[in-house]
Amino acid sequence: MNGDATVVGGGLAGLVAATRLAESGADVTLYERRPEVGGRVRTETVDGFTLDRGFQVLFSGYPAVERELGADGLDDLDLRTFAPGATICRPGSRSTLGDPLRDPRAALPSLLNDEVSLSDKLRTLALRYDLANRDADEFFAGPDASIREYLRDWGFAEDYVENFVEPFYGGITLDRTLSTSKHVFEYTFRAMGRGSIGVPAAGMAALPAALADRAREAGVTIETGEDVESVRIAGGGRIPFRSGSADGATVELADGATRETDAVVVAASPPEARRLTGVESVPTEGVPNVTGWYALPAGESFETGDRILLNAASESPNAVVPMSEVAPEYAPDGRALLAATFLGEDALDRPDEDLRDDVRDALDAWFPERDFSGLETLDIHRIRFAQFAQPPGVHADLPDPDDPEGPVALAGDYTEWSSIQGALESGRKAADAAAEYL
Ligand SMILES: Cc1cc2nc3c(=O)[nH]c(=O)nc-3n(C[C@H](O)[C@H](O)[C@H](O)COP(=O)(O)OP(=O)(O)OC[C@H]3O[C@@H](n4cnc5c(N)ncnc54)[C@H](O)[C@@H]3O)c2cc1C
Repeated sequence: MNGDATVVGGGLAGLVAATRLAESGADVTLYERRPEVGGRVRTETVDGFTLDRGFQVLFSGYPAVERELGADGLDDLDLRTFAPGATICRPGSRSTLGDPLRDPRAALPSLLNDEVSLSDKLRTLALRYDLANRDADEFFAGPDASIREYLRDWGFAEDYVENFVEPFYGGITLDRTLSTSKHVFEYTFRAMGRGSIGVPAAGMAALPAALADRAREAGVTIETGEDVESVRIAGGGRIPFRSGSADGATVELADGATRETDAVVVAASPPEARRLTGVESVPTEGVPNVTGWYALPAGESFETGDRILLNAASESPNAVVPMSEVAPEYAPDGRALLAATFLGEDALDRPDEDLRDDVRDALDAWFPERDFSGLETLDIHRIRFAQFAQPPGVHADLPDPDDPEGPVALAGDYTEWSSIQGALESGRKAADAAAEYL
C-alpha cells in the first residue's frame, strides 16, 4: 500500500494505528501535543521513586497486548505481578482472598476467609467457568445492566459485594458505586482468570515506549509537542462541515503549519476527538481518579505481601497498593513506596494533607502493631478524565472508526471500552478503516 497518513494523538491507540499503517507501506506522521507519547499511560520520577501518572495496571490476559507487542515484547516489559485476589482490610483485621486455582499459597487462607461465604466462593468459580467459555464476540454485546445488578442476579450476597467487589471493582472501573456496565466486569473478570495483573519494572510508561519503538522501526515519524488545531477534508470543508469529497485531507497545526495527507486517524482524547471530527457520539463525560504516592521513612519496610489492600470499611482511600513489595524497582534501595487511590469527584478538591491523613489513619487501623506517622507524600495525581463514563448501555452507542466524514478514522478507547485493551484494539481497527483511503 502506498500513500500518506497522519495520526493525531500519541496515546496507545494512536501508536498502534500509526504502526499498522506504516507496516502496510504508508508514509506516516504522528502528532502528539505533549512532550512525550503515552497519553493516559505515563510515568514520572520523583526523588528516585517511579510514579505512574495515576495508579494503573496491565492485564497480561488482554489479547491485544501480546498481539501488538508480540510475546517477546511482553516479556521485555518485565511485568512485576500482584498475587491474584486481594487483602480485605478493616480496623483491626486483614484477610486474604486469593485465587486458589492460580495461587496455591492462598488456597487455605481463602477457604478460611470468613468475609465471604462458601456459597459465594463457589458462585465465583461458577461465574469464572461461565465467562471462560464464552466467545470473545459475545462480550460488550447484548443486554446490559450495572455490575451491582449483575451480581445480584447471580445471587451473590450483599456483604460479599460490599466487602470485596466494591473496593476491588471500584479500583478497576474507578466507580465504587458499581453502576458501571456489567460488560466491563465480565471482560476484566475473564482476563484475570487468563493471566496476571502487573506493572512493568520500569513503570507503566514502558508500554507506550515499546509501542513507540515499534512505530519508529516501522518508519513512523513521531512529532511530539505538536498540537493539531483542525482537520479539513478535501474541498475546504472542515469536519464536521462536510464537503462530500473523500480525496485527502489537510491537518493544521497550532502554529499554522499544514500537512496534506491521504488519510487521517484522529486518536486524540475523547473531548478533542469530538471537537476535531464533530462526531457527536464520542463520549465526553469522564470518570476521575486521584492517586497519592507515599514513602515510608528510610529503612522502614511495608511487608504486607504482594496483594492490593482493599478498604472494606471506608471509601477513602479506596485501596492501598504496596508498590515496592510488588515492583522493588519502583523505589530506591531501602525505601518503601505505596500508592493509595481515591475515587469520585470530591477527591479532586481535597488537600494533600487530608488525603495523607486518611491513608495514615487507615494503615494505623489495619496494622495496629505498626506506626505510620512518618508517611511522606511524594506526589498526588489528580486526573479529571481517567476513563470515559461507562454506564449500562453505553457501549452500544459508541462511535465506529469510520464515522467521520471523508478519509478520516477515529481511534481511542472510546470506540471500544475504557481500557488499555480497548485503546490497543481501537488502533488496529482505525488503521484498517484509514487504509481504505490509501
Ligand atoms: C488513573 C488511570 C487509571 C487507569 N487504570 C487502568 C487500568 O488499570 N487498566 C486499563 O486497562 N486501563 C486503565 N486506564 C485507562 C487507560 O489508560 C486508557 O483507556 C487508555 O490509555 C486510553 O488510550 P487512548 O490512546 O485511547 O487515549 P489517550 O491516552 O487519552 O491518548 C490521546 C492522546 O492524544 C493527544 N492529543 C489530544 N489532543 C491532541 C491534539 N489536538 N493534537 C495532538 N495530540 C493530541 C493527548 O495528549 C494524548 O496523548 C486508566 C487510566 C487512568 C488515567
